[in-house]
Amino acid sequence: MQLEVKTILNRIQHFAGFVYREVRFGYSARGRLRIHVCLEPHRSSRGSCSACRKPAPGYDRLPQRSWLFVPLWGIKTYFFYAPRRVDCPVHGVVVEHIPWSDGKRPVTLTMMCFLSRWARRLSWRETARAFRTSWECVYRSVEWFVHWGLAHRKLEGVSSIGIDEIHWGHGKGADGFLTLIYQIDRHCRRLLWVGPRRTAATLRRGLSALGPELVKGLRFVCSDMWQPYLKVIAAKATQALHVLDRFHITMHLNQAVDQVRRNESGRLRGRAAAQRLKHMRWQLLRRTSRVRGHARRKLQDLLDSKLATARAWMLKDSFEHFWTYKSLTWAGYFLDYWCWRALRSRIEPMRKVARMLRSHEELLLNWFKAKGEISGGAVEGLNNKIRVVTRRSYGFRTYEAMEIVLYHTLGRLPEPELTHRFC
Ligand SMILES: [Zn+2]
Repeated sequence: MQLEVKTILNRIQHFAGFVYREVRFGYSARGRLRIHVCLEPHRSSRGSCSACRKPAPGYDRLPQRSWLFVPLWGIKTYFFYAPRRVDCPVHGVVVEHIPWSDGKRPVTLTMMCFLSRWARRLSWRETARAFRTSWECVYRSVEWFVHWGLAHRKLEGVSSIGIDEIHWGHGKGADGFLTLIYQIDRHCRRLLWVGPRRTAATLRRGLSALGPELVKGLRFVCSDMWQPYLKVIAAKATQALHVLDRFHITMHLNQAVDQVRRNESGRLRGRAAAQRLKHMRWQLLRRTSRVRGHARRKLQDLLDSKLATARAWMLKDSFEHFWTYKSLTWAGYFLDYWCWRALRSRIEPMRKVARMLRSHEELLLNWFKAKGEISGGAVEGLNNKIRVVTRRSYGFRTYEAMEIVLYHTLGRLPEPELTHRFC
């Protein structure tokens, strides 16, 4: 049998009630080569109503429309079809249901799925370039894909969530942040919701978007010590155990050490001791076990000094021990002792952290009650992924595009089932 493009199309993507009439070359207005795929209704089939999908008597035919399809051999390919209108007894005269199309969108569903899948592996700009289309077309496709996924996702079985905020945009106030809600159960980690700003109202909106059923079923909520969040969680998810997660606490400790280093190197400018603090930022923020070789010797050199930075670093490093306790009581003793030491250290940024930890002692110790139930690195892992995404998508000026890209890459959304996977 001679293999024709029509044969291939019929094999991979047959639409019941429609036939591929012909496939031919065409040209764009600028004279570029195109492939045109012309479709016709099957002789014996009636059109179905686009509202109820039931077959209905024909009414008339609209002018021919075109839809962008997946490029074949790198040549832009279009579907051509003149939609029928049907006279549905319930919905009146309406356009028929067209299985490759969604409303007025000029792109086939197949192409939207195709572009969306590639947009996870490449940036949107690269996707557009590779498949000879525009950034806007990729954006609209991913947007459709994400909305489909959000409408079809299942939110059952969510028992732990993590609440996080990331800096996005230019503002330093609440406006410069996004609030994110993750599912952090062992069996499933994904982004559930994202919203602009990081206020109590944002989080309240997020929780109500997820629905009261989900909120009522929560057993654990992880968050930072950010006051507006704490308030909302205490009010909304009363049955859930609220845990301050390790990732955020470590972040606060690191920020304090960095603050001490900056203050001290400012104070010591020009003196020999300042040399010890030079280029030490990353070594000080990393976990000790991850600093090796020359950097390790430099770090050791710094630690042997009597500098405030060294003492701050040792305080930070000793706090790691807190997470290893099995007993709640002993963890409590350790926390008291650590805070006492930090408060006596006369290093203001460390004292500030100690005061903060002390005032949230109960929530901190909840970590040990939830141990083994929530995965410890989940919030950190998702937070890192988000950083990668926001960095890659430097071009996204609008919040809407940012929201779409976050759901697309981290939402683990279900995908429309097509008969053939092009990629
Ligand atoms: Zn109908």
